[in-house]
Amino acid sequence: MTEHNQHSSPGSGLSLNSRILIGLAVGIVIGLTLRLFSSEWIDVWLIDGVFQVIGNLFINALQMLVVPLVLVSLICGASALGDPSRLGRLGGKTLALYLLTTGIAVTLAITAGLVIRPGAGADLTSAAEYVGNTAPSLVEVLIALIPTNPIRAMAEGNMIPIIIFALLIGVSITLAGDAGRRTRGIFEDFNAVIMRLVGMIMHVAPYGVTALIARLAYTAGGEFFGNLAVYVVLVLSILIIHVVITYPLILSLLTRLSPILFLRKMWAAWLFAFSTASSNATIPVTLRTVEKRLGADNKIASFTVPLGATINMDGTAIMQGIATAFIAQAYGIDLSVTQYLSVVVLVIMASIGAAGVPGVGIVLLATVFAQVGLPQEGIALILGVDRILDMARTAVNITGDAMVTTVVAKSEGELDESIYNDPEAGVIRDDPTPASA
Ligand code: ASP
Repeated sequence: MTEHNQHSSPGSGLSLNSRILIGLAVGIVIGLTLRLFSSEWIDVWLIDGVFQVIGNLFINALQMLVVPLVLVSLICGASALGDPSRLGRLGGKTLALYLLTTGIAVTLAITAGLVIRPGAGADLTSAAEYVGNTAPSLVEVLIALIPTNPIRAMAEGNMIPIIIFALLIGVSITLAGDAGRRTRGIFEDFNAVIMRLVGMIMHVAPYGVTALIARLAYTAGGEFFGNLAVYVVLVLSILIIHVVITYPLILSLLTRLSPILFLRKMWAAWLFAFSTASSNATIPVTLRTVEKRLGADNKIASFTVPLGATINMDGTAIMQGIATAFIAQAYGIDLSVTQYLSVVVLVIMASIGAAGVPGVGIVLLATVFAQVGLPQEGIALILGVDRILDMARTAVNITGDAMVTTVVAKSEGELDESIYNDPEAGVIRDDPTPASA
């Protein structure tokens, strides 16, 4: 980690965060202004033309890196652990923490939903029929853990089978003597090259963000301030509470590290998660944040971050907990305590089987509703406001991944505290020299 300070010279230009924030603001202004002059030409050439192309190129560029980065980085990480039993311990701790944070999230959400009662007195007559998919069953998820064809798993971007394949290769490298050492060298070089590419893509992010947000502001306008306001505000409030109270508490209880520093260093990753609404697409940025900014070693982060992007979705759990209470109240259905408890378990299980991609939380919610007997068309009610919540909950999802990574890294003696405590570590600045990873 000798390079962690390369871009921290003060005064060398705007930080990436500031540039992305400016991009976000410019996007909102452009989108809302174009909305005032809405015409077919704007729809076709700008919104579904230029902005869509730039925005999608940006998301594609991030996604392009996910599979190679997870594979290579995890092979390096697992092979550096040395001892397969250490991997088992690491896996146990990580899973326990992921389950704990998701459990707290959904409990908090349901409690808030029951106290504030956002659905009381809602008018449901305008609800359109929603035809939803359901999430895969637990048996399907278990069988799919080991890929019959790792190349297909990579082609389809199935994260868990890729993680398992990479772990097995990594462990075999440690057991394969000289051949293993040579193979590891190749993967480590490749990993450094890919991280460099992550840095390059982050540099152009402000343009991608402007395009994505301009398109969103144009299509969505200010509608979400309408009659679902209480639901939206409640979800957003609990998301914020989880980030500023639950995570800092767990972090300081288990590590004694400064939670303020942790939150400050998450900014860039939040902006990426917010703009893409996908924890999966944000993996490169989350990984870079926990390694270069928070000081977690690649050995730990390469395992916990991709795993978290798939199975740890605290923000999603919060939305689902509140949505369940909201829809039940809106339809005047009284769910029992046992039913709410089963919602807690279902939400945790459902988040394990689904990838961190836009909108997946709503698909999973259909499964939860089916189990407790809530009407599926209730989902149509909240669908309209889900995009903005998706963006916000994705930022929370990756914060949970980063927090757990920090805790696990620290407990394994794999956290470089000089990096963690340096506010400028790993900051990317807009200076003329090419960025390092
Ligand atoms: N978009 C979320 C994520 O990628 C998942 C969801 O809640 O829809 O983490």
